[in-house]
Amino acid sequence: MPTPHRRRTIEDPQARHRRHEAMEAFKVLESLKNDFRFPLQSMEYFYELFERIYCQNEKLHTSERPTVGALCIQVPYEIIYALDAVPVRLCNGFHTDEQAGGEFMPAKSCSLVKATLGMLQSEDFPAVEKIDWIVHPTTCDQKTKTIGMIEELGQSVYHMEFPRLKESEESREYWRRSVRKFAQEIQRELGRPLKRRKLKEAIRKVGRAQMAYHRLNELRGNDPVPILGKDMFLITNAFFFDEIERWSDAVDAVYHEVAQRVRTRQNAAGKRSPRILYTGSPPIFPNLKLPMMIEQADGVIVADESCSANRLFNDMVSVDEWFLYDMVDAVADRYLKGCTCPIFTRNDDRIRRLEELIRLYRVEGVVYQSFAGCQVYEMEQRSVQAAMEKLGVPMLYVEADYSPAQGGQLSTRIEAFIESLKVRRRRKG
Ligand code: SF4
Ligand code: SF4
Repeated sequence: MPTPHRRRTIEDPQARHRRHEAMEAFKVLESLKNDFRFPLQSMEYFYELFERIYCQNEKLHTSERPTVGALCIQVPYEIIYALDAVPVRLCNGFHTDEQAGGEFMPAKSCSLVKATLGMLQSEDFPAVEKIDWIVHPTTCDQKTKTIGMIEELGQSVYHMEFPRLKESEESREYWRRSVRKFAQEIQRELGRPLKRRKLKEAIRKVGRAQMAYHRLNELRGNDPVPILGKDMFLITNAFFFDEIERWSDAVDAVYHEVAQRVRTRQNAAGKRSPRILYTGSPPIFPNLKLPMMIEQADGVIVADESCSANRLFNDMVSVDEWFLYDMVDAVADRYLKGCTCPIFTRNDDRIRRLEELIRLYRVEGVVYQSFAGCQVYEMEQRSVQAAMEKLGVPMLYVEADYSPAQGGQLSTRIEAFIESLKVRRRRKG
């Protein structure tokens, strides 16, 4: 009898890509929800949001409003909101996208940059159906070099020039000019004028989100620790694409539940969990493996310094005169002052901020991650290490990418580090 001819179905590559992403997202969400003790009820909003966006491919924003993709946190959201457009951060954390983008970049390139390129190629963006305009601040060399490829994909990209010296008056002026020019270009691109009242309102909206984050974040300074770092990373990652007022309300709800835990002295971590500060290349969903490993190994992240978390909310806009271009300048200042990315020549602000976080959150150890191939984070590791030695705070330096293959070796190092912090605490009595 002849063997029956099996019919083969050919899956559309975009559908396959989406399926792989959904599997990655699902696995991480399941672990975030189920592998840790004492879940917060109010975190359901965020778990569900990520499930809808990444597992069910739901689009949050309708195509009525234009969408602006941000390639770095230096893109001023206030100006985008003031024009009734939707900002979406395009920095990506999927291994599926990292592999796709990796085909076009040298092997030792930053995972975040490869994954962002892979996502743009797939034309499947989180939360929105399409991206109308991409804004690229010239912060990072690797991103800058991929822009040519992104433009070849047919995307319209606007370059915002960014200074490499932080502390000088010239840099401040240079960046202010860049932001003013951006404000003019975006009006031309979207075909609508920037109005004083709308910008004031947008500054207020972003300010409210910053306040909501900070008051929740401050509760992490308590002992016992009322919220785990893995939840804080999920909350801040949602800021990349969520509707801002809904996001602020959801953060307020988490705040109330966490504040109640503080009153009843409920511990979200273990009895002896060392207090960790996370710094370095940004954990971006679903690549939350390092924060999750730290907390699975009985550490607790009480503070962070990265552009997918705390750094998003640094420094409030401070306006002297509520005239349109005075407000634009004030917005520009907030973004330059708040940036502690290692792309600057010197970055004393980053060290100062780390020292302050260590003091305020009574940090016992620092975990510093650099994505393999990110030279600036790799190089800055030395100055951060020296500062930590001076303070007597142990630091673990980890070089990682998005691949799940690294898992075993990485978790062994993390477990050993957490154990050494516990021994240190016992010795100190
Ligand atoms: S690591 Fe630096 S350059 Fe990259 S997105 Fe974050 S702030 Fe921007
Ligand atoms: S981690 Fe490094 S290479 Fe990657 S985006 Fe940030 S600064 Fe650029």
